[in-house]
Amino acid sequence: MSEYDIIIIGGGPAGLTAGLYASRAGLKSLLLERGAWGGQMINARVVENYPGFPNGIAGVELGSLMQEQASKFGLQTVFAEVSQLAPGLKHRIVTTEGTFEAGAVVVAPGAQYRRLNVPGEMQFLGRGVSYCAACDGFFFRDRDVAVVGGGDTAVSDALELSHYAQKVYVIHRRHQLRAGQALVQRASAESKIEFIWDTVVEEVAGDQMMNSLKVRNLGTGKVHTLKVSGVFVAVGVLPNSQPFADVLKTDDGGSIIVDQDLATSLPGIYAAGDIRQHSPRQIASAVGDGVTAALSALRYVQTQT
Ligand code: NAP
Repeated sequence: MSEYDIIIIGGGPAGLTAGLYASRAGLKSLLLERGAWGGQMINARVVENYPGFPNGIAGVELGSLMQEQASKFGLQTVFAEVSQLAPGLKHRIVTTEGTFEAGAVVVAPGAQYRRLNVPGEMQFLGRGVSYCAACDGFFFRDRDVAVVGGGDTAVSDALELSHYAQKVYVIHRRHQLRAGQALVQRASAESKIEFIWDTVVEEVAGDQMMNSLKVRNLGTGKVHTLKVSGVFVAVGVLPNSQPFADVLKTDDGGSIIVDQDLATSLPGIYAAGDIRQHSPRQIASAVGDGVTAALSALRYVQTQT
């Protein structure tokens, strides 16, 4: 069985940054990734809010540069899917490519946006459909857009979008918001925001770009077309925490609970990026998490030797 000082699970910005810091600090480091370098950012045609790239950079390219930089300092990588984390004096990680052991582990497998699962949603992804107002709101200056959802994310997305868009509809399936009172009060006072209650989206429609939503009122059953240039889906996230949920403490939504050093409920195991509770879910914040988690893991490994 291969043994390392540190194993990092996930090759997105959090994991790759943790790998860069750990390997550069001289730790024998392994990163496990099941798909492609970069995580969710590979879906971004252009990333405009990552510092250092004034003209933006393709998500795929940024992911590949992060991997290249970490590998330069000795980070080893294996493409494998993790099925189990067994904590111990040495933590054991079971994967499709075998079992690995390490003194410290950084869990950074990210999260997925929950989808509406309606026709047109995937077809118009990046052509009007977005899951990130902070990333894409800027592209909808002076347009009419919609946000779907009634939680904190939906309402804060609507407020963020009101800085750019001409009109922001918030489509919610009930008549009561789940979002906190302070956000609700601010959104209710914003003249550009209009709530559409008891309503679900049935279809995203368009041509080259999306141009409308088919929506249905759950009370009356009436279906109508809402003309909007964009829709921001904010119906929650699904953290990729399944293989870890039985050993690490998670909140009700499945996000891993961490302290300020990004330490989880078990010694020597850290969580970074979108998987951890209260993550801002940005590339830059995931990078910051990678640094914090790697430095915490480094301190832990040094105390064990
Ligand atoms: P959330 O609280 O789970 O809210 C998801 C919303 O989407 C709910 O209103 C839900 O409706 C709706 N929804 C779920 N599935 C749907 C579907 N298939 N079709 C239509 N609507 C659907 O998720 P979140 O807003 O992303 O927040 C996640 C966590 O992050 C929360 O703990 C939140 O407090 C926190 N957060 C905090 C802030 C902040 O500024 N403090 C900002 C963002 C997030 P129902 O209400 O009917 O269930």
